[in-house]
Amino acid sequence: MTSTNQPCACARYSFEVLVHEGPTSEAVWQATTTECTATTQSKFAPGHDAKLRSLLAQAQAGGHLIRQVSGRAVVIADAATAAAALGWANLTP
Ligand SMILES: [Zn+2]
Repeated sequence: MTSTNQPCACARYSFEVLVHEGPTSEAVWQATTTECTATTQSKFAPGHDAKLRSLLAQAQAGGHLIRQVSGRAVVIADAATAAAALGWANLTP
């Protein structure tokens, strides 16, 4: 298998904060991401595991759910669960 650059794994994660809820079913959410466009031959571009950890910690502090997109699959979990899936026991540095 040749090693090719792939999108950095941190770019798959985001969380959303409710900004405005309309009188009907309309709601406006603001997405927070790592704003990552890097590619890498490993899972994360250098330093981006820390970037992701910080994103998860931010979500955890605000009580927001993490959205992880893998192709067409979207996994929504709390930050601690997302961290555990990455092998991180806790989010504090
Ligand atoms: Zn990244």
